[in-house]
Amino acid sequence: MPHTTTVVIGAGQAGLAMSRCLSGLGVEHVVLERGELAQRWRTQSWDSLHLLTPNWMTRLPGFEYDGTDPDGFMSVPELIALFERYAAESRAPIVTGTTVERVERADGGFRVASNRGVWSSESVVIATGYCDRPAVPAASRRLAPSIAQIVPADYRRPDQLPAGNVLVVGASSTGVQIADEIQQSGRQVTLAVGRHTRLPRQYRGDDIMRWLDRLGVLSQPAEAVHDIETSRQQPSLQLVGRSDHSSLDLGMLHADGVRLVGRVRDIADHAISLAADDLLTTMAAADIKMAEILMRIDQVITTNGLPATAPEPFRPTWPLADSPESLNLEAEGINTVIWATGYRRAYPWLRVPVLDARGEIVHEGGITPAFGLYVLGMNFQRRRNSSFINGVGDDARVIAEQIAHSMARGRVA
Ligand SMILES: Cc1cc2nc3c(=O)[nH]c(=O)nc-3n(C[C@H](O)[C@H](O)[C@H](O)COP(=O)(O)OP(=O)(O)OC[C@H]3O[C@@H](n4cnc5c(N)ncnc54)[C@H](O)[C@@H]3O)c2cc1C
Repeated sequence: MPHTTTVVIGAGQAGLAMSRCLSGLGVEHVVLERGELAQRWRTQSWDSLHLLTPNWMTRLPGFEYDGTDPDGFMSVPELIALFERYAAESRAPIVTGTTVERVERADGGFRVASNRGVWSSESVVIATGYCDRPAVPAASRRLAPSIAQIVPADYRRPDQLPAGNVLVVGASSTGVQIADEIQQSGRQVTLAVGRHTRLPRQYRGDDIMRWLDRLGVLSQPAEAVHDIETSRQQPSLQLVGRSDHSSLDLGMLHADGVRLVGRVRDIADHAISLAADDLLTTMAAADIKMAEILMRIDQVITTNGLPATAPEPFRPTWPLADSPESLNLEAEGINTVIWATGYRRAYPWLRVPVLDARGEIVHEGGITPAFGLYVLGMNFQRRRNSSFINGVGDDARVIAEQIAHSMARGRVA
């Protein structure tokens, strides 16, 4: 059984950042990856997907974006190429095609069993991703079998879908992008709108991410928010990364013919019951939240005398909804439902008791209650951008230091 100080599970951005930081501190380790490096991006992205974070935000420990278009938005193949370059420069000890099947305590450390052998280690870093598995409502099981159901990880392009109209459930970044693409392809899309975070792509002459960065919103630490569990459940930003830097919001989708309806409440065969009563509230809440953020940007501009163009007129979303209480898929000619309803995580291979009642890893800033076991890449792990490419590095540094410190003390904490 090979022995190493640290086994890192997963070679996405989190695993790569972790490896770089461990190498920097001289900690011997191995990165076990079930597929290829950046497997999730390779296999679970739709064809037209570009990052919603601008290129200047594509940075990892020891790496800053060095291309010619810092304000552009990378395609997935470009991102994979960048991760490959980063891994090569970092000399990351990645073992691909190796699925971890069991992690358990052994001899004061860990025994990590995979389909390609067993490793023993003093510490383990779980970097298997926050967007691990689709979170599809249980009601989906009551949908008529004739309706195709698909999750964003399996969506590639509109012509892959069966003929007919489409219901997209979920109006965060993924839901609005997919709804837009399918509508543009000539099909009628109905978009069921739940909680979402509306933001314009650009505001007062700069990208919204630049403003959020200046406000310190992206790097806001977990201790600074009132209720970290609530903050961790905030919907993702309703943004898209396009070469024309355009926004994509519900008002624009409505103008393009997408039908906006309320949250899916229940399903019986072809009948979908909708939360008509909360649609206006949901949209108004997103508008108010956005107005609040834009006001904070205005304040920063005024206080610091920053160069900026005049504020753009604010267009509320709420008058756009028709709010039906139900939808009959057969009558609407809808043959496909796309569940853009977020992600969950599952650790069936983890035999160390660190999971809470929801099956989430209990941790504080990535440090679990089990001696030597860490998790990386979780939403708002230590900072708001912990699960983003530009945020995971800070968390990786802290965990690497913890591991190195424990080694120096002759034990792994
Ligand atoms: C559609 C979408 C768009 C996004 N856009 C952006 C963006 O624009 N900007 C941004 O900063 N962030 C974005 N994110 C968020 C985040 O950057 C990604 O989710 C990213 O993939 C997270 O990287 P990660 O390394 O934490 O996890 P992952 O990329 O999920 O990597 C986990 C790795 O672990 C491997 N693995 C899992 N289980 C095992 C096992 N048992 N054994 C061995 N290996 C295993 C997987 O194969 C995978 O390679 C986006 C996320 C999604 C879903």
